[in-house]
Amino acid sequence: MSYEGKNSETIALHTGWRADETTGSVAVPIHQTTSYQFNDTEHAASLFSLAELGNIYTRIMNPTTAVFETRLAALTGGVAGLAVASGQTASAYSVQNLARNGDNIVSSSHLYGGTYNQFKNNMHEMGIEVRFVDPSDPSNFEKATDDKTRAYFGETLPNPKLEVFPIGEVAEIGRKHGIPLIMDNTSAPLLCKPFEHGAAICTYSTTKYIGGHGTTIGGAIIDGGNFDWGAAGADRQPSLNTPDPCYNGIVWDEAITPNMGPIAYIMKLRTTILRDLGGAMSPQSAWMFIQGMETLPLRMREHAKNAQAVAEFLASNSKVQSVTYPGLTEGAQKEKADKYMSGGYGALIGFELPGGKEAGSKFINSLELLYHVANIGDARSLAIHPATTTHSQLSSEEQLSAGVTPGYVRLSIGIEHIDDIIADINQAIDKAS
Ligand code: PLP
Repeated sequence: MSYEGKNSETIALHTGWRADETTGSVAVPIHQTTSYQFNDTEHAASLFSLAELGNIYTRIMNPTTAVFETRLAALTGGVAGLAVASGQTASAYSVQNLARNGDNIVSSSHLYGGTYNQFKNNMHEMGIEVRFVDPSDPSNFEKATDDKTRAYFGETLPNPKLEVFPIGEVAEIGRKHGIPLIMDNTSAPLLCKPFEHGAAICTYSTTKYIGGHGTTIGGAIIDGGNFDWGAAGADRQPSLNTPDPCYNGIVWDEAITPNMGPIAYIMKLRTTILRDLGGAMSPQSAWMFIQGMETLPLRMREHAKNAQAVAEFLASNSKVQSVTYPGLTEGAQKEKADKYMSGGYGALIGFELPGGKEAGSKFINSLELLYHVANIGDARSLAIHPATTTHSQLSSEEQLSAGVTPGYVRLSIGIEHIDDIIADINQAIDKAS
């Protein structure tokens, strides 16, 4: 049956798979195979020429991974997905699919530290310039645009500042110029639906909430199917509108969109970038993420409910200097949070104790239930001190511009019982004060 129009809870359990036609297996089988028997040479030729879609080699596609891709695309509200080895791979490939040596993209400066490093250093070494702008004024994206700009990039709920990205405003500027907005939606799956606000592409580190149990590294890129590459023109989007030497001179938008629907971006990505650079997700990992997705709607609700309660507890605690949580903001920030995070404000909270760096690290070292790890989105509650860990490769000015003050502590609130989470945080604050 079709699950189109069904709710997230149903999609998370059903989309992309019913039961195995041969064995009746209800759980998705792990197709631990590298390759696939072709019917005959004509069939093989037709698959390689993209006249027919089908399995060729697991670096490029796999039936288990395909269920994961289809389901995550449906949950995100997109038309097609591509699984990759990690969130870092997703960020890199999403940009490389559009920008070549000599091109540029404009990116929010409020980014996960690893993405910032990748954009500033590795992209630069590949000849792609990333122009960082402050997203609090969306017009900064337009100001930094020139005729070589191929994409805009933002993060839905960038930690540590946790200021919700102005998705609609930046997407609209981009569409005026034929430039798609790529949104890293890692920190807000289901809570935020970037395509509904005009974003064209979504990326995920599935390592976080999608997996949800801290077991597996992975990433995904989802095509919203809502961007008119042809109308953007060959000058603005040459990767999709001019002959591509990577695939026998195919013009992706012309060859794919009229025949297969609005999936030219993801088809190009799968059959050139993923094929050539090889950052594929393993079928075992895809299976772990399918398991994670089954409970994603339940977990996201619980994460958001618990985090709101922790944020309110911190805000009412006289030993806490400041608390950062979208659900506690006011005025324009709250309006933005309500508009874009309509499903809840997420699990991430930042707070600062008056004692600065020393108090921050004493707090972390005093935790008993919460884990001290470099991760977010686990079912367990987690804490970290960004200045000495995730953001330590940045200069102190870069740290401050990303919102990392010396005593800042980041929490990723899990789904344990709320009383136990608050009790642990409370005793650690007492020890650190
Ligand atoms: N994007 C965001 C927002 C992240 O938080 C992370 C990792 O923390 C990544 C991307 C990178 O993901 P991965 O660790 O799966 O490569």
